[in-house]
Amino acid sequence: MERYPTKQIYVGPVAIGGDAPISVQSMTYSRTADVEATLQQIKRLHFAGCDIVRLAVPQEEDALALAPIKEASPLPIIADIHFNYRYALIAAQVVDGIRINPGNIGSKARIKEVVRACQERNIPIRIGVNAGSLEEQIERKYGATAEGMVQSALYHIKLLEDLGFTNIKVSMKASDVARTVEAYRRLRPLVEYPFHLGVTEAGTLFHGTIKSAIGIGALLLDGIGDTIRVSLTGELEKEVEVGRAIIQDAGRAQEGVNIISCPTCGRIEANLVEAVAEVERRTRHIKAPLTLSVMGCAVNAIGEAKHADVAIAYGKGSGLVMVKGEVVAKLPEGELVDRFLQEVEEMARKWADQDERN
Ligand code: SF4
Repeated sequence: MERYPTKQIYVGPVAIGGDAPISVQSMTYSRTADVEATLQQIKRLHFAGCDIVRLAVPQEEDALALAPIKEASPLPIIADIHFNYRYALIAAQVVDGIRINPGNIGSKARIKEVVRACQERNIPIRIGVNAGSLEEQIERKYGATAEGMVQSALYHIKLLEDLGFTNIKVSMKASDVARTVEAYRRLRPLVEYPFHLGVTEAGTLFHGTIKSAIGIGALLLDGIGDTIRVSLTGELEKEVEVGRAIIQDAGRAQEGVNIISCPTCGRIEANLVEAVAEVERRTRHIKAPLTLSVMGCAVNAIGEAKHADVAIAYGKGSGLVMVKGEVVAKLPEGELVDRFLQEVEEMARKWADQDERN
């Protein structure tokens, strides 16, 4: 399905929504007031390919630490604030976005102050609905359901819109996939704001990856979602890696290689597992949107190679390298990966030149 058209907003230099690439976010787990530890985690995320980082601001000392962190951060920063509007006012002076639910910070006057502070620096507000903490009146009427989450999002959106503020993105998270997906699907036709996707408290690396792949993946396939976060307990770099893979495998990535490899079976006569790992490692830096196929024998390799930009088909002690379905080399097994990667690099170079010219 086509991606839903959404309003484009900016978190620092990162565009979200419209035709911008789907961005990957993560969150530090250090105490934000510990500037050094937080910066270290931000740098790790940057190195892993993260686009935007969110920092929790539960106390005043965390809000005050945002200025020195922002100064040295290689990534745009979103301050995550729950109830204290004063922390939002401190944060709004320095960060690139704020996550706050306007209905949680008290009087209209307070909401106005926060909105004005964000307007002054032209930074967005993310409304972050969580099924576990819906407003009392909404929970009473709808329960902690997908519709309850939608109503909560609309309530917070209206508070901002009534003040003329539309620099908004929205997230709605529940710890189970079905409710999360349903909520986003219900809200999508009702507003034009970009959506931040995620399954909250997704869990360990194993289950969190699966839940996120199902939930975020289903929505991306529906054309829903402009930025994502995969929540994995204590797994900074993995959050980014899994997030990128979900975007890639849902066919929504505008950059990066898509590697197709066979699961192997009794017909195989080569060390395919090692070859695929090497291809994955040596193509991580490539931004060109290439499809690469690495197959264990000729049974499916020829068919897959027709749809791949560059392909290898292993045989007994030797194999073929193919470009756009045409055989360009027949080589001993040990030389195949290097030759395959030469073709990949060449194609990536041409793509980069073309991209620059455009
Ligand atoms: S491509 Fe060949 S080796 Fe790989 S799973 Fe299929 S039949 Fe088996």
